[in-house]
Amino acid sequence: MRTKNPESPAYLFGHLPYCSDCIHELFLPFDLINNDPTVEQVLDFVARERGINRSDETSFSAYSFPKLLQRDELLDGERCQRCTRRL
Ligand SMILES: [Zn+2]
Repeated sequence: MRTKNPESPAYLFGHLPYCSDCIHELFLPFDLINNDPTVEQVLDFVARERGINRSDETSFSAYSFPKLLQRDELLDGERCQRCTRRL
């Protein structure tokens, strides 16, 4: 059984949880494809482009941009909405 991996963040997008791989795929902008960025680098880049301040999560809605989910915010056995991987 897969255990929770603290190295791999989970995200809230809309009202649903997603794994880091799916958020990476969904948000990777074409201009960064060759740089092999991490999911956090992708989100920082896209947030900057959209004028979103990621350091203040109260300043934007999870419906407009994914928010980092803390491990203790995840329910036991919660799965990624897109690939159904355990978070
Ligand atoms: Zn996923």
